[in-house]
Amino acid sequence: MSGLNLYALLGEPVHHSLSPALHNAAFKALQIDGLYVALRTWDELVGPLMRSLAVSGGGGNVTLPHKRAAADALDRASEDVRATGACNVFWWEECVGLCGDNTDVEAFCRAAEAVLGSSLEDRRVLVLGAGGAARAVVHGCVREGASGIDIVNRTRARAEGLARDLGSPANVSVLDELDARSPRTYDLVVNATSLGLAPSDPLPLDLGAVKCEAILDLVYGREGTRLVNAARDAAKRAEDGRRMLVEQATASFARWFDREPPREVMYEVVRLSD
Ligand code: NAP
Repeated sequence: MSGLNLYALLGEPVHHSLSPALHNAAFKALQIDGLYVALRTWDELVGPLMRSLAVSGGGGNVTLPHKRAAADALDRASEDVRATGACNVFWWEECVGLCGDNTDVEAFCRAAEAVLGSSLEDRRVLVLGAGGAARAVVHGCVREGASGIDIVNRTRARAEGLARDLGSPANVSVLDELDARSPRTYDLVVNATSLGLAPSDPLPLDLGAVKCEAILDLVYGREGTRLVNAARDAAKRAEDGRRMLVEQATASFARWFDREPPREVMYEVVRLSD
């Protein structure tokens, strides 16, 4: 019997995910006897699947819409899971049981630093969206010492709920909308809405409604995204979500194995220089 360990991405949908390619390339590069698969599943099965994968020596990731169910299934949740109510990576530890973390927080901070050219400390950030990804983004901004974080979401009540769940920090505000007649100034704008996934989607932001240096679009595509391309045409620094994707994958790898992930191999999968 071989010692092959099974890792899985649990979500719905998962067919478009690059996570299997990223992790299987890393396993191959380091000759790890593991296999990473994407499993389409539903909330009630998430906890039992996590437990059986992890206790058998593997582990995995969780994506939309199961991150909250995953957080609820843990025996030990990290501080980032407790703050965001979302878990995206899990593994097993003897004497503890099922452990989980939210590596989207760390990954967002690394991607934001890359596009800003320095840390988030004392930066003004506009976050578009208030779903699971926005929770990791706002929590990361608060943790790294951003001076002001404005949230705009189609459903205002959801943005208010996000701010409340994070303890209503004094530097977090919910705005109704952006006004092109009096554009606000930001160091970074983050698109954490799902707008941009479909080619027919409108831009998530009127670029004339803000003055900003840099844009980070969490949506990703091999040739950038419409928002990234429009921002670059307007002479702004802009990146899509591939760096954040790889950074959450390398951080996940580090939770599973007591060794450095092969970052250059994983960056090569999405064709982005480290
Ligand atoms: P989610 O929880 O479903 O939230 C979706 C967000 O998009 C909500 O704020 C929603 O607003 C907004 N939205 C959806 N359709 C909209 C529309 N037509 N007009 C305006 N706003 C709209 O999803 P999520 O997990 O936060 O993910 C959001 C995006 O981030 C996805 O594209 C996902 O792929 C990406 N992501 C990328 C990474 C990465 O590593 N690069 C990691 C995580 C997520 P309402 O509240 O009004 O519905």
